[in-house]
Formats: sequence, C-alpha cells, structure tokens
Amino acid sequence: MKKRTELYAGKAKTVYTTDDPDRFILEFRDDTSAFDGEKVEQLLGKGVINNKFNAFIMTKLQAAGIPTHFEQLLSERESVVKRLDMIPVECVIRNISAGSLCRRLGVAEGETLTPPVFEFFFKNDALHDPMINDSHIITFGWANEREISRMKELTLKVNGVLKQLFGKAGLLLVDYKLEYGRFDGEIVLGDEFSPDGCRLWDAGSREKLDKDRFRQGLGSVVESYAVVAERLGIAL
Ligand code: UDP
Repeated sequence: MKKRTELYAGKAKTVYTTDDPDRFILEFRDDTSAFDGEKVEQLLGKGVINNKFNAFIMTKLQAAGIPTHFEQLLSERESVVKRLDMIPVECVIRNISAGSLCRRLGVAEGETLTPPVFEFFFKNDALHDPMINDSHIITFGWANEREISRMKELTLKVNGVLKQLFGKAGLLLVDYKLEYGRFDGEIVLGDEFSPDGCRLWDAGSREKLDKDRFRQGLGSVVESYAVVAERLGIAL
C-alpha cells in the first residue's frame, strides 16, 4: 500500500490517503504535546514505540470482539487503518482518580473509583475539549442515541479486556481516552491506544509510566513507554 497525499497532521500523528479510498496510513511521529499543544517536544523513538504499542493493543481488542480500524503494521512508524467518519467526541473511563477529575471535583489522586467513571468530552482544542453529556451530543448532531450507547458499551468492554491485560503485566490502568468513527454503518474504535492517551502506573510502587511523565516534567518518558511495552511482551 502506498501513501498518496497528506490529509491531516495532528499533534502526534499524520494521516495519509492511499490508493484504496477506504484505507488511510497513520504515521506516528515523535512529537509529544500537552496542555492543548502549549508544551510540545520531540521525544526520540516515541513514534516507533506508539505505533507498535497501538498495533498490539488494537489486535488484542479486535480478538476480544471490539471492532477497530486497525488493519496492519506497515513500517516502524506506519500502520494501515480503515477510513472512518470520525465522531468528534472523546470517551474517557476512569478506574482510579487522576488528572482533570481531581482538578474538577477536588478528589485526591489515586482513589479507586467503583464503578469506574465514564465521561464524554467535545474534541475541540480551541475550547480546551470541554466535558459534555449525551444531550449535547444529540442536540448538536455529533452522534445518535444508538451510537452513544454503542460507544459506552464498547468503551466499558475495552476496560474489561485492558485492565486484565495490564494487570497481568503488573500495571494499573488508571484511565484512558478512546475515539470512535463510523465504517459501513458500524461504530468502530479509531485513533490510537498508547501511553500518550492513557494513564498506567506500576501496580506496586504506583510510579507513573505514561504521558504524565511529560506533562509533569518527570523525565524518562520514552524509557517508561518502553518499560510498559516490554512488560506486555511487545517486540520493539
Ligand atoms: N486524554 C487524551 N487526550 C485528551 C484528553 C485526555 O488522551 O485530549 C487522556 C489522558 O491521557 C488520560 C485520560 O484521557 O489518560 C483522562 O484525561 P484527563 O481528563 O484527566 O485530562 P488531563 O489531566 O490529561 O488534562
């Protein structure tokens, strides 16, 4: 499969059209951003790790019956995916309190959340991805009732699969963000799953091994992503 034209460059990935109108190529770059793009750095090797990490996780999710856009690894930094009609909504599940939940509700970091919290955010950098609910999604026509239920159902199903997968590797899945799109009328998991879009802590020490290392200036960002990949048995 060949790249044709660059369609869109996001904060960490570039999307290319291909000779197949239903397939895109994603290129995972080393760019790392936080705070709506206010802090940006190149972290050498991050793109390669995230490409392989995402391929591994998407393959596991697909095997567990979750439809994903992932098709195949193409190179160190590139993957072939289905072309989705993306829904401009982020679905977040939180198993342990951290990040914006703590800031918003004054909850201490590290509390186990039972049942897990589910949140929707509107994907819009200029508005700083505001939190929204089902009613906003319906009124503004971003998705219908059936699609909303399916996104919730799939996001929770992902939680069951990944909590177990990371748990076996001695990691806590604190929270994560998923994005969905439509393909042939079906809701399909898109975007990526990597330590850029989730929080993972060592189960014993609770050391942070995800993008919070970058957000909080803790250092060893790529090294921590590699530790997680190694523990999952991902060949880098
Ligand atoms: N997240 C993301 N992209 C976003 C916002 C959040 O990948 O634009 C992920 C983030 O890495 C974390 C989870 O979603 O795993 C919840 O993020 P939170 O709302 O706590 O926001 P943050 O503290 O990252 O600003």
